[in-house]
Amino acid sequence: MSTADETGGLMVRAEAVHKSFGRLEVLRGIDLEVKSGEVMCVVGPSGSGKSTFLRCINHLEKIDAGRLWVNGHLVGYRESGGRLYELRDREVAAQRRDIGMVFQRFNLFPHMTALENIMEAPYRVKRQPKAEVRSRSLALLERVGLSDKAGSYPAQLSGGQQQRVAIARALAMEPALMLFDEPTSALDPELVGEVLEVMKQLALDGMTMVVVTHEMGFAREVGDSLVFMDGGVVVEQGTPGDVLTEPRHPRTRDFLSKVL
Ligand code: ADP
Ligand code: MG
Repeated sequence: MSTADETGGLMVRAEAVHKSFGRLEVLRGIDLEVKSGEVMCVVGPSGSGKSTFLRCINHLEKIDAGRLWVNGHLVGYRESGGRLYELRDREVAAQRRDIGMVFQRFNLFPHMTALENIMEAPYRVKRQPKAEVRSRSLALLERVGLSDKAGSYPAQLSGGQQQRVAIARALAMEPALMLFDEPTSALDPELVGEVLEVMKQLALDGMTMVVVTHEMGFAREVGDSLVFMDGGVVVEQGTPGDVLTEPRHPRTRDFLSKVL
């Protein structure tokens, strides 16, 4: 059994993924596939394991059972001669570099300008030439509509602007996959649209994205697929139009009746 061959062009493939924290079983057998170029939106009640699953994809949590492939790699392990070997920290770090993540809270470096925030990882981690990193970072600022904020510090930016910088910062590492964990949940309502618009453009540019969100309008308009998670499992999955219009599972119907 090889590791990469089995992903068959998929960006993410989860097979019976389990994760517990102590005696709390948070992921109870997640099966899911994300194709390259696909935008998958994930919805579900608080505590259903959405963030934990994203953290597993991003190598931030170790799964207890099942298999998880991301970007052609079996997460956490190397398979050889039918046996699994744990990856070294360096190998994990190398694989994580291809994944960008944007969180609910903007967590920009407060003592760095918007431009410096974006330049930091490619310059320090990838050790790319500074002038090159700088011009690419400026282009990224332009892409998220913040050309005029290069020299601003996070505290001088609105929440929506900070989140757009956070997206640009994640893109600076040229990820193959972008993960969003409720990227607009902490924003004032009037700032949500500008962040969703940047994400929509990213999707149109062909980025593979997994987006945990309560923004059903975004899911319907931008998502290729919609996953409803509850109690650590995928309860229902389909096109956003189908799931939102005709949810089949009572738990999906119940959840949607509360958020729509
Ligand atoms: P969601 O993102 O869907 O709201 P989470 O994945 O954040 O759900 O959390 C699922 C459950 O796992 C919750 O009960 C949460 O308290 C618990 N949990 C998450 N992370 C940890 C952790 N590091 N240690 C212990 N419990 C955790
Ligand atoms: Mg969460």
